[in-house]
Amino acid sequence: LTHDSNQTSTPINNYLDGLIPSDFNKSSCRSRFEWALLRRSSPHMPSSYLLQKLRNYEALHKKCGPNTPLYKKSIEQLKSGHSVPLDCNYVVWIPINGLGNRILSLASTFLYAILTNRVLLIEMTNELDDLFCEPFPDTSWILPPDFPVKNLNQLNVNSDVTYGNMLNKHTISNDSNTTFESLHSYVYAHIVEDYHNLDRMFFCNDDQIVLGKVNWLLLKSDLYFAPSLYKLPLFEEELHLLFPAKESVFHLLAHYLIHPTNDVWGLVKRYYNSYLAKADEKIGIQVRVFSFTRVSSDVILQQILDCSKLESILPELDLNGTQAFKTNEQKSKAILVVSLYAYYYEKIKSMYYEHSIKTGELVSVYQPSHEETQNTGNQLHNKKALAEMYMLSLCDVFLTTGISTFGYVSYGLAGIKPIILMPIWNKKIPDLPCVRETSMESCHLSPANPSCKGRTMDKEKVQQYVKQCPDKGAGIKLF
Ligand code: GDP
Repeated sequence: LTHDSNQTSTPINNYLDGLIPSDFNKSSCRSRFEWALLRRSSPHMPSSYLLQKLRNYEALHKKCGPNTPLYKKSIEQLKSGHSVPLDCNYVVWIPINGLGNRILSLASTFLYAILTNRVLLIEMTNELDDLFCEPFPDTSWILPPDFPVKNLNQLNVNSDVTYGNMLNKHTISNDSNTTFESLHSYVYAHIVEDYHNLDRMFFCNDDQIVLGKVNWLLLKSDLYFAPSLYKLPLFEEELHLLFPAKESVFHLLAHYLIHPTNDVWGLVKRYYNSYLAKADEKIGIQVRVFSFTRVSSDVILQQILDCSKLESILPELDLNGTQAFKTNEQKSKAILVVSLYAYYYEKIKSMYYEHSIKTGELVSVYQPSHEETQNTGNQLHNKKALAEMYMLSLCDVFLTTGISTFGYVSYGLAGIKPIILMPIWNKKIPDLPCVRETSMESCHLSPANPSCKGRTMDKEKVQQYVKQCPDKGAGIKLF
């Protein structure tokens, strides 16, 4: 394989096992083609049904995308205030919270769009600008600025147009016989951690039958809600066909949808090629320190070291110094530490500077940046965060922080089951420092659990699809 944009020995449509459509110009978004070249090949193949669905989706998006006659027709319908059967219906994704949350909710929203034959458009805010390539050929996923509903980012759980508030005020009914004409032209689905009981009815079968008739859905979410879609009988068969291996949902969707722009990819490639590429094994450690932890950095470092010992992650130090120094044929291990803080990198680096190791490999320790504080409103900060998620995704072994969506995205992209540090809640050190995950999927941290009327899936069936997350008891994940 070659990286040259003009000549390649592999047909373009073979990239990422056919996930990537063939009509893209390679130089406009290099990550789309180059990520797979840097990584060992993924064992997680897309089903032919998924590939067909994606090609159909691309045709739909092209037909209904911004500024097409059908888009304009749907906008006129939006302005009219009520819904009618139309060729093009939309889901507009509205970003909120950190980048990991955004990527997970965006992938979930795309899955929802495929399941409901909607076109996905995204509200492009300044801080998201120039982070992601356009994913669909010959069209755009960016919501045009003249969209008639203004101030989308101000929609919140109290807005009149949330699905929950509309149910509460009887301006919408979740009776599955509800007709198009009685439905408002748009509904705001608030799928954020603070969602109310009635907002959660979004995840009910009959409610989805009704919402399926609404022309425009505005959806704000910070959650990986894909696992909850598995609980709806309405989507069950389709999901099974799309993802016969349900553990690869995020991995495949993200590789189809999320591609860092050339600017971000430049950060990834420069760092990767300079420091990581030659290592025989790359160990990714992601340390996210949440405010609820309330312990010192030393305590967190100790948890990492205890976990490493338990799961044999980091090369073991030779504290007695008995290991003879070998000069050739040594294997090399690169440890990539990703964190807002320099502390963990400094400590781990010093460990391997001050001591030799038992197995005699060459160990190097790296950290691309330490931003010190989360600054989601800043574009360069977000570019570095995205680049670091992708650098991590090129590792072979993962030690990530529990309930961190930043970590979820990295190992999900890699398609590798991580070892997860158990969260420390309010100074309470967990008995087990970490667990070896049995699924590479992300956790839906605040699942809806609504009391649905109409058809529901029985509990045993649900348990075939989702399990409890090891790092958050109330969370669910596909496995
Ligand atoms: P979560 O809060 O761990 O679930 O992850 P999010 O990605 O949603 O939000 C955390 C945000 O903090 C990131 O998007 C970054 O802006 C920043 N951040 C956290 N950890 C890191 C890190 O290791 N490197 C960089 N560059 N930014 C980070």
